[in-house]
Amino acid sequence: MFNIYEFFNRINELDPKIRLDAGQPDIPVDGEIIAETVRALRAGETGYTSTAGIGELREAIANLEGVSPEEVMVGPGAKIFISAVVARARRIAVVSPHWNAYTLIANEFKKDVEVIKTRLEDGWLPQVEEINADLLILNYPNNPTGRVPSREELKGILEAAEERGIKVLSDEVYAELSFKEHTPVRELYENTITVKGFSKLYSMTGFRLGYAIAQREDAKKLREFIEVTATCVPPFVQRAGIKALELRDRIKKRVRNEYRMRVKRAVRILNGLEFYPPEGAFYVFLRVPGDGLSFAERLLNRGVAVFPGVAFGDYRNFIRISLTWKGFEEGLKIIREEVECASESSATGRWEGSSGSASAGSTR
Ligand code: PMP
Repeated sequence: MFNIYEFFNRINELDPKIRLDAGQPDIPVDGEIIAETVRALRAGETGYTSTAGIGELREAIANLEGVSPEEVMVGPGAKIFISAVVARARRIAVVSPHWNAYTLIANEFKKDVEVIKTRLEDGWLPQVEEINADLLILNYPNNPTGRVPSREELKGILEAAEERGIKVLSDEVYAELSFKEHTPVRELYENTITVKGFSKLYSMTGFRLGYAIAQREDAKKLREFIEVTATCVPPFVQRAGIKALELRDRIKKRVRNEYRMRVKRAVRILNGLEFYPPEGAFYVFLRVPGDGLSFAERLLNRGVAVFPGVAFGDYRNFIRISLTWKGFEEGLKIIREEVECASESSATGRWEGSSGSASAGSTR
C-alpha cells in the first residue's frame, strides 16, 4: 500500500513554495475560539470530563443536528470514531477513491476490506448492488473528488445497503462545506452512524475535536471505545467547541464562501482538463497524463506539492490538489503547464511515463 506519510515527510523536507497537498485549512481559527480556550484553561478546566463529552457541548450539537443529546458522543476528532466503528465490523466496504485512513484503520484492526471502485466517467458514483460487507463507509462531500450526490442518488446507494442489512458509517466532516444541498445519510437511512468534527469548517484540526451521532446501542459502543482509549476530550477543547458552535453561522458563511470561490477559480484555471467540478470540500481530483506519482514528483521539483492519486486507492493517473493555500492559483497554473507539456510529449511519443490513458473519458 502506498505510504502517504512517507511522501508527506519528503514534501516537508523539500519545503516547496506552494503547498497543495494536505487537507490542512489555511484559514486561521477564529480569535474568539482561541480566547475561549485560553479562558477555560485559566479558569482551571484542565481535568477529566464525562467520557461522552460535557453536557453543554452535547446539547449544543444535538440542537444543531436535530437529535437527542444521548445520541451524541464527543471525541478527539472524527477519526477515532471511524476506528471505533471499524473495530466492531467484520468486513468493510469502502467507496474508492477514498481517504486512505479508512483502509489503514481496517488494516490496523485486521478487517477485510472490499473496495468499490468508482470512475470519473460515472461521476464518481458507486454501484453497491454486489457488496458483501456488514459496514459501508460513505463520505460526502467527498475527499478527494469533491462529489456531493443528490438526495435521489444517495437514496439509490442506500436502498442497496438496506436490502443487505448493511450498517452505514457516514463521514460527513465536510458537510458544512457543501456548495449544493447536502443530505445527511441518517435522514434517509436509520442504520447509520454519522461522524463529524471541527477540523474543516473551523480549521480546528489540532484541537482534536469531533463527534458521532448514533442510536442508543451504537452510541453506547462508541462511548466504550472512547473510555478504553482516549478517556475524554480536554475540557478547554470542548469549551472551544461550544464557542465555535455559537459562532457557527457567521463562520460558515465566510468560510464556505471562501472555499466556493477558490473552487470556482480552480475550475476556471483547469478548464478543459479532466476532473469532476467539486460540489463541496476543497479538493480537486485531477487526471494527469501518465503516472500520477511521477507527475507529483515533477511538480515537487517545480516547488508545488500535491498528493498522488495512489494515496486514495488504485488511481495511478490522478493527483489530488488541496485548495488550502493562499497561493493556490500560481500552483494551479504550474499544474496546467505540466499537464499540457506532458500531453504534448506523450502525443509525440517522447514522454516515457505516459500510459496513454489521458484521452479516455474526457470531461471536456
Ligand atoms: N474524514 C475525512 C474524509 C477527512 O478528509 C479527514 C481529514 N483529512 C478526517 C475525516 C479527519 O477528521 P478529524 O480531524 O476530525 O479526525
